[in-house]
Amino acid sequence: MTLPTSIHPSALASPIDAAARAVEERVIAWRRDIHQHPELGNREIRTAAIVAEHLIGLGFNDVRTGVAHTGVVGLLKGALPGPVVALRADMDALPVTEEVDVPFASKARATWNGEPVGVMHACGHDCHTAILMGVATVLAGLRHQLRGSVKFIFQPAEEMPPHGEDGGAKMMIQEGALQDPTPSAIFGLHVTSRLHVGQLGYRSGPTMASSDRFSITVHGRQTHGAAPWLGVDPIVTSAQVILGLQTVVSRGIDISREPAVVTVGMIKGGVRENIIPDNVEMRGTIRTFDEGMRDDVHERVTTLAEAVSRGSRAGCTVCIEKNYPVTVNDPALTELMVPTLQRVAGDEHVQFVPKVTGSEDFSYFQQLVPGLFFFVGVTRPEIDPAKAPANHSPRFHVDERALILGVRSLAHLVCDFVEGR
Ligand SMILES: [Zn+2]
Ligand SMILES: [Zn+2]
Repeated sequence: MTLPTSIHPSALASPIDAAARAVEERVIAWRRDIHQHPELGNREIRTAAIVAEHLIGLGFNDVRTGVAHTGVVGLLKGALPGPVVALRADMDALPVTEEVDVPFASKARATWNGEPVGVMHACGHDCHTAILMGVATVLAGLRHQLRGSVKFIFQPAEEMPPHGEDGGAKMMIQEGALQDPTPSAIFGLHVTSRLHVGQLGYRSGPTMASSDRFSITVHGRQTHGAAPWLGVDPIVTSAQVILGLQTVVSRGIDISREPAVVTVGMIKGGVRENIIPDNVEMRGTIRTFDEGMRDDVHERVTTLAEAVSRGSRAGCTVCIEKNYPVTVNDPALTELMVPTLQRVAGDEHVQFVPKVTGSEDFSYFQQLVPGLFFFVGVTRPEIDPAKAPANHSPRFHVDERALILGVRSLAHLVCDFVEGR
């Protein structure tokens, strides 16, 4: 299935807006309820039950639960023939203790990787879930005039599953979320503090970074700190490795093509001032915007750490764990659908935004189906978005007027796409 060549405003444009206005209050209520009862990745049991019950209540043609542990996939068939479109919302919260002063603030606590933590929807996935439930209401109400089918994907564990568990978009795909039927396009959104409420943001092509974590262990030989020549010092060697890593991007990567980041965020070695230890362990993260450059950075980090260590007669073990791929908005789909976003939000409220060095597992869906992932502003007009507490902050705050814009955006994207020629 190829993309349509032209898109026009859907015949359902006014009914969509009316239905969105009618459901707005319920969307806000769902968001507050989910916000007050946040659940960590792979633990979205209550949230998934609310979603599934809602879709079943709307008379969806098919509702699958327990996909990738707690995911829900619903299928809504329109009465008229047309293509299949998928929409995705993530449902998981973060191990963050809420500091926002709202009546529905989270007081939830849970265990995350063995540690007791507060739980909060600090990334706004409560909004994504409530918005998609709202879209389900809007489109189910219009199903007799709707072309094609809409697949609703409610996904667990976007923020990574707990240690030792599988989950998220990749696992949903493995369990058939994109099959039977396979969509021709997929749309998703993320609320962001970086834009004012009322604004939408998008990019074409690479939009969010790949995210990989690495560990480097330098193996020396323990000895007395007063006689370093009797051993091999992994602390000095690690310092050289860290400085060397600064050249991976600055001297090795063509930054005129795409940027990249290599960060060492943790270093651990030694127990006392007068003992040179056996080992030093470092951990860090790698972000890139191109899959080829991603492999190149991995190769350079590995060779550099190993070669520098060898130069100091130390051993070195490098482990790089690939996490999420680059989130790439399909250029043709983006060009086709941006006019829809401009019509929904108003031309002047749609911005071409900078690349985001955070990552998203929506990227896995986009590797198989042309996708568009865009941003919805949630910062109050009187606050400077550059100073607003960012997503993942315990003070992340959502202006709920953003929710109806999210509902309208997704509903219009679907209807414009399925009626496209
Ligand atoms: Zn997040
Ligand atoms: Zn998120």
